[in-house]
Amino acid sequence: LTRYSRITGMNDVLFEEQRYWRFILDRIRHVTDLYGYLRIDVPVMEATSLFVRGVGEGTDIVEKEMYSFEDRDGSHVSLRPEFTAGIMRAYIENGLHVLPSPLKVWTTGPLFRHERPQAGRYRQHSQFDIEVVGEQDPAVDVEVINVAWHLFDALGFAGLRLHVNSTGCPACKPAYVGKLVDYFTPLAEVLPEVDRMRLRKNPLRILDSKEEVTQPLLDKAPHIVDHLCAECADHFARLSAYLDELDRPYQVDFRIVRGLDYYTKTVFEIKADGLGAQDTVCGGGRYDGLIEELGGRPTPGIGFGSGIERIALAMQQLGLAVPGEPKPDVMIAYLGEPAKLAAIRLVEELRDADIGVLLAFGDRSLKSQLKSADRAGVSHTVILGEEELKVGRAAVREMATSQQVEVSLDDLAQWLQRKLNGEAQTKGEP
Ligand code: ATP
Ligand code: MG
Repeated sequence: LTRYSRITGMNDVLFEEQRYWRFILDRIRHVTDLYGYLRIDVPVMEATSLFVRGVGEGTDIVEKEMYSFEDRDGSHVSLRPEFTAGIMRAYIENGLHVLPSPLKVWTTGPLFRHERPQAGRYRQHSQFDIEVVGEQDPAVDVEVINVAWHLFDALGFAGLRLHVNSTGCPACKPAYVGKLVDYFTPLAEVLPEVDRMRLRKNPLRILDSKEEVTQPLLDKAPHIVDHLCAECADHFARLSAYLDELDRPYQVDFRIVRGLDYYTKTVFEIKADGLGAQDTVCGGGRYDGLIEELGGRPTPGIGFGSGIERIALAMQQLGLAVPGEPKPDVMIAYLGEPAKLAAIRLVEELRDADIGVLLAFGDRSLKSQLKSADRAGVSHTVILGEEELKVGRAAVREMATSQQVEVSLDDLAQWLQRKLNGEAQTKGEP
C-alpha cells in the first residue's frame, strides 16, 4: 500500500496554526482598507520569460529556485516565485494606467521557490504583498513602509525597527558597484568562497553576506548613499525628511540590498525583536525601471512582500496572542428518529437566523451527545425528545450549569439569540 507524504518543503496548515492565519489575514484586510489598497489576484503560473526578465537573469531565484517546466503545448512556464512581475504584467496587459494614479494594490497567496528547506524557509510559502504603481513621490515610499509598520503593530509586534537604504538607479548604481569591487578585490583572498563568487557575479550581495569572516571587512566598505546621483540623493533626502516626521525609529543601513534585480532608489526591511537570525519580517523597495523593462511605458513602482508563515512563526515565538476561531454556540441533540427529522430541519432554521449550530450525528445516547457538546465547547444544547416535540417544545441545557429549561420551538431562535447576545455582552465587560 502506498503511503503518500508531503513534497519536501511544502506544508499542511492545520487548525492551531489557522488561528494565526485567520488573524493575520483579517488584520491585512483591515490595514489595506484603511490605506485604500485594492485587492488584485494574478495566476500562480506565468510565462517563464516574464520572471527571467522581471526578476533578473543572474539572481538566485531565476538561476536555482524556479519551478519551471514545459507545458503540454511546449510553452515554457513557471510557478510564480514572487508577486511583482505578475502584477506588473497584469498592469500592462489590462491597461491599468487608465485608472486613477497611483494604483495601489495588495494580494496574498502561495509562491514557489526550490530552496534548501529549513525552519522558516519552505518551497511553497505565502506572502502578503502590496504594490503602488505610477508615482515617484517619496511620500509614497513612506506610505508603503507605513502599511507594513501598521500591520505589524496591529499584530502585536514590539521593538519594530525600520532599516532603509537607497539602491540607486542605472545612472549611479554601476559606479557604486565599481567602487565596491575596487574595495573587495584586494580582499578577495580572505573572502569566503561564497562571497568571492558574489564579488564576481553580484557584488552587491556581499553587503548582506552572513559569513562571519566577511563581517569585519564590511566596516570600511563604501556606502551607496555617499555615491548617489543628484536625483537619487534628492529622493533619499526627502524620504528621510518624511520619515523624520513620524515617531518611528529607523536607521539608514547600507547593507540592505534586495536580492532581485529590479530595485531602484528606496529599499527597506522591517525587523522585529526576539526572533534571532530570521528577524526580517518584511522587505521591499522601489522598482522604477521594471514596467518599461517588461514592455510597458516608463512607470515608477514600489512595493513589499512579507512571508505569512514567517509572521505566524514569529508570533508563536514571541507568544503574541491571537483570538480563537469563532465557533458554534449551540448543539442540537435528539432522541429517536422523529426527533432527528425535526433536528435536521431545526439546525438550518437556526442557521438562517445566524446562530452557529452543530448537529450531534450518529443516533447516540443523550449522555454521549452531551459529551460531544462539551468537547465542541458550545454554551447551550437543545435536546429534542419525542414527548416535548409533540407539544412543540424542546429542552435547552446550559452547559456551564447543567440547568435545563423548556422553550417553545417557535420562540427558540429568538430565545437563543437573546441568551447568546447577553452572554457575549457580559463576556465583553471587564
Ligand atoms: P531571505 O533573505 O529570507 O531569503 P528574501 O530576500 O528572499 O528573504 P523576499 O524574496 O523579499 O525575501 O520575500 C519577502 C519575504 O518572504 C521574506 O522576508 C520572508 O518573510 C518571506 N520568504 C522568502 N522566502 C521564503 C521561503 N522560502 N519560505 C518562507 N518565507 C519566505
Ligand atoms: Mg531568499
